[in-house]
Amino acid sequence: MPVQAPQWTEFLLCPICTQTFEETVRRPISLGCGHTVCKMCLNKLHRKACPFDQTAISTDIEQLPVNTALLQLVGGQELELPALLHCYVCVWCCPLHIYPST
Ligand SMILES: [Zn+2]
Ligand SMILES: [Zn+2]
Repeated sequence: MPVQAPQWTEFLLCPICTQTFEETVRRPISLGCGHTVCKMCLNKLHRKACPFDQTAISTDIEQLPVNTALLQLVGGQELELPALLHCYVCVWCCPLHIYPST
């Protein structure tokens, strides 16, 4: 699979579930290590650690900072999302797909 340069719209997606961040269930939460994942995925983590680099999350999830800059980007755009969002982190996202999105 060819490596593509990330498009800016990819920053508006949760890298785990590949859903667009939004203000309610999928708030973008900044982890201490610099990664951002949506709150829904964060709540489903089996252990409190960054899924990408395993940095332990020592703060309570409710206390972690919301990435408001991202949230504004999401809210301010009519996004044209790629027609095909591939499952590039299958190990993580596919088990999550079985959950209802609400
Ligand atoms: Zn997510
Ligand atoms: Zn991380």
